[in-house]
Amino acid sequence: MKCPRCKEYDTKVIDSRVIEDGFSIRRRRECNKCGYRFTTYEKLELDIMIIKKDGRREPYNREKLISGIRKACHKRPISENTIKKFINELELDLIQKGEKEVPSRYIGEKVISTLKEWDKVAYIRFASVYKEFKDVEEFITQIKELGNEEQPET
Ligand SMILES: [Zn+2]
Repeated sequence: MKCPRCKEYDTKVIDSRVIEDGFSIRRRRECNKCGYRFTTYEKLELDIMIIKKDGRREPYNREKLISGIRKACHKRPISENTIKKFINELELDLIQKGEKEVPSRYIGEKVISTLKEWDKVAYIRFASVYKEFKDVEEFITQIKELGNEEQPET
């Protein structure tokens, strides 16, 4: 690892610790030439392909998925930690399945059902992008259905 200050390659690890979920390692490093200290993170990377609706494949992209969920949760009472925890669990699930390719639908449905539990607004936002509601009417029907769930008929 190159020193960000003097570009020397001769750096050493002075501290390593496992963080968060146990799938990330934080390392403190020190440059042997100038003494500069810096931190690096090593993260587990999920190495699978996503099968899109039209049959094309693309590599799984954690950041892309997180940013989609973040957008849906914008200004809603859902913390960044909650989102990250969910993603970690989702990735573990995918690793345990052991598949090299996973349909985007599988991940989409997991996100949708989780958002439905968290927050109705976030759910509708994500679902409207993901399910590509054909028209306003379909969208309204979805919202009405949600309303009914909240007030079950007696
Ligand atoms: Zn240096």
